[in-house]
This record gives sequence, structure tokens and C-alpha cells, in this order.
Amino acid sequence: LVSRKKKPEDTIVTLKGENIGDGKQHFVFGPCSVESYEQVATVAKAMKEKGLKLLRGGAYKPRTSPYDFQGLGVEGLKILKRVADEYDMAVISEIVNPADIEMACDYIDVIQIGARNMQNFELLKAAGAVNKPILLKRGLAATIEEFINAAEYIMAQGNGQIILCERGIRTYERATRNTLDISAVPILKKETHLPVMVDVTHSTGRRDLLLPCAKAAIAIGADGVMAEVHPDPAVALSDSQQQMDLKQFDEFYNQLLASNFVN
Ligand code: PEP
Ligand code: MN
Repeated sequence: LVSRKKKPEDTIVTLKGENIGDGKQHFVFGPCSVESYEQVATVAKAMKEKGLKLLRGGAYKPRTSPYDFQGLGVEGLKILKRVADEYDMAVISEIVNPADIEMACDYIDVIQIGARNMQNFELLKAAGAVNKPILLKRGLAATIEEFINAAEYIMAQGNGQIILCERGIRTYERATRNTLDISAVPILKKETHLPVMVDVTHSTGRRDLLLPCAKAAIAIGADGVMAEVHPDPAVALSDSQQQMDLKQFDEFYNQLLASNFVN
């Protein structure tokens, strides 16, 4: 169902008037984790000033260590909804439990399925059963074929509003947190009709690589870029090493717009 052979035209996912998959670039920014109303609203305000409408923030955090911050849960979803309403934005947030998918639809605009859950087939089926766009991230060790099959699981249940997101894969290379598989973008665009985004934060894990990787993503045909922004990354409860502060965000976005890659 997700194959380009079945449907030659591009699928477009519409969020707050932005048509993802229309050949233009769309941007998703926001903190790694929702920590407080003030924290999310501060980022939303900075985004709003740039005309950006797609806000991210994790309420359920799949952390490597069980002793790390696990997210605010439904309280986090409520904060996202409040900020989305106040700033007229669409919010994207990860859901990790199939039983939470329906409930989450009351609070968020896009359900994110994270890398660690890309092959959680019960979660994929639950995501396929709701009428809500899904942002599906590539698994840490998933082949492109497995990634496409994960999207197929969602669409097989009836939900074709899927955005694919390349977020880096695990290789032997340690200079970056993961290895951004940039060629996955044109392959996914060729093999499927779905929009493809690139998460430059989790793929690189390095602030100094966000801009060049975002340029590369756009140059190679990505429909959008995701990156993490936090008002004060040094005190962030997750991913404090790689989130941009507001000044860095400003520079990143201005330089990206000035790069001639964005149309
Ligand atoms: C995230 O986007 O918050 C996240 C945890 O990313 P990933 O699932 O790609 O690691
Ligand atoms: Mn993160």
C-alpha cells in the first residue's frame, strides 16, 4: 500500500495549513522532552516568531537507562495541547503504548512512533486504526525494507497519513551518535509515496553537525527536517548535549533559509 507502484502520486499530510510532501520543506522543532508549560511555551514563542507551526516534545521517553527521566506522561500531553491551542500550532509527540494511542488523539496532532518501537507491531497496528497522522521513525538497526514494512503495518489498518523519518542508524562509527543514512531519503521517496523527513538531532548527536546535515537532507530531497530546541539545554532532563538553545536555533534556521536549498 505504501509502494509508489500502487500509488504514483505523492501523499500529502496536512498540518495547520502546511502540506508535508508538497515539494517544499517543512520544519519540526521543539524540546526532546516536555518538562514544563513554561519550557514548551518558550520554544513555541520563538518558533511562532519565525512563522513555524510544527512543534515537537516527548511526554513518554524511551530512555536507555531506567534511572533516567521517563517523561511527564499524560501531563506532558496536556501541556502540549495547551501550548498548541495558545500558539495555534500542531504538536507531534511519541506514544509508546498501544493502549495510549486513542487517548493521545485527544491531545496531539501527530503520533510519533520512535526508533525503538519501529517494529512494535501491536503499536503499529494501533496507530493504523486511528484517523491521525503518524510520524514513523526508522529503527536503530532497521533496513530500509524493514522500515517500509513498518509503514505498511500502519497503512494496512487503514491509516495512510504517514510521514517517514530517517534518524540515523547504528554503525561502527562513533564520531556521531548514529550514522545519518542520507541515501535512505531518495530511496524512500522512490520506493514509497510517503513524505520523508530527517531528524538531524538524533542522527548526529552533535550540535555542530545540525546545519550541514539539514542542508544535505534538503538537497537530497527530504520533505522536512526535525531538530531539538530547548530554552536551556544545559539543564535539560534528556539529550542536553545536543539540543540547540534559542540563539543557536535562530542561527540554525536563518542560515538554513539563506542556504538556497530551501524553497
Ligand atoms: C525523539 O524524537 O524524541 C526520539 C526519542 O527519537 P528516536 O526515537 O529517533 O531515538
Ligand atoms: Mn531527544
